[in-house]
Amino acid sequence: MMTEHGVLPIALGDNWAYALPTSDGVILIDAGPDYDGAWDALVAQLDAAGLDIADVQYVAITHAHIDHCGLAFRWQEAGVTVAASELEAQSFLHGRNIIGYQTQYVFEHMRRVGVPEERITGFIEARERMRQAYRSGDNTGGGVRRERWPGLIRGTPFRADEELSDGAEIRLGDRRVVLISAPGHTPGNCVFYEPDTGALFSGDQVIPGLNSNPGWHFDISVEPPARFRSLPAFAESLERIEALDVRYLYPGHREPSDEVAAEIERVRRHHRKRQGQLREMLDAGPKSPYELLMAMFSRLPDRRLWQALAEVTGHIDALVVRGEATETETDGLLTIRLV
Ligand SMILES: [Zn+2]
Repeated sequence: MMTEHGVLPIALGDNWAYALPTSDGVILIDAGPDYDGAWDALVAQLDAAGLDIADVQYVAITHAHIDHCGLAFRWQEAGVTVAASELEAQSFLHGRNIIGYQTQYVFEHMRRVGVPEERITGFIEARERMRQAYRSGDNTGGGVRRERWPGLIRGTPFRADEELSDGAEIRLGDRRVVLISAPGHTPGNCVFYEPDTGALFSGDQVIPGLNSNPGWHFDISVEPPARFRSLPAFAESLERIEALDVRYLYPGHREPSDEVAAEIERVRRHHRKRQGQLREMLDAGPKSPYELLMAMFSRLPDRRLWQALAEVTGHIDALVVRGEATETETDGLLTIRLV
């Protein structure tokens, strides 16, 4: 159903795409995930609102995770212009390999932060088990796991038709939507803002009730590959969003919300708490990132290592970037100490 801001939320499994009808066709925010039946579900929801695939002129994509951009190639086949941030452009070429392309650097970085070799092996094995369980449709193997989409989601590589810079406007008929660069969740992540309604299409940057995981990302165009300090960027992106007159959130997951300031503050509170914990641990003396991880999550199963390390290193990065801590490397091992 169309909302008061003239937005049609389209539910596709765990994701939302949003259709914005204008006087001259439709702008769609995020392409939608690509599972069996996703396209039909999309068509049906447009149809129920009196819209047609042929009305869609623009698909604007928040970031290169396949649950947000999986159907981009399909829109291109239908002759629709797919637009995205120029900062994210290269990432779309990875398709479903968006996480996998960097696993070798992830394992190397695990060693650098002090993860014992047997735990890295445990992580690789757990990951393989989860992958096989997922492929075979058995979601019970990896513990409790929510079925997020009706089926496996695919990721077909594509090249965006339009690569937009920060502040670029997508104008169609009587509506305009502004691309706001919001690096963090991914290096080239962006959100879309409609100044006339105060609606923000926040993708995974602000998700009501959830703390978006900043993840590990490596820029493999330089040698050695550079790790992107995602959490400081994420926090800066929150500030950029806060400076806009956002009155309503249309997130990529969970329910739309008008609690914009409260949501931003909730995320900040979580960041402050974690960074305060790290400072306390470091007060007792220098530690490796892995020691900090174990002090924070002592009973962490191997399969969650990557995700949890991404969170802890994110908060370490925040301390380092603010000049509250330093990170030194000796014999291939990182040590963090308070300044
Ligand atoms: Zn994402």
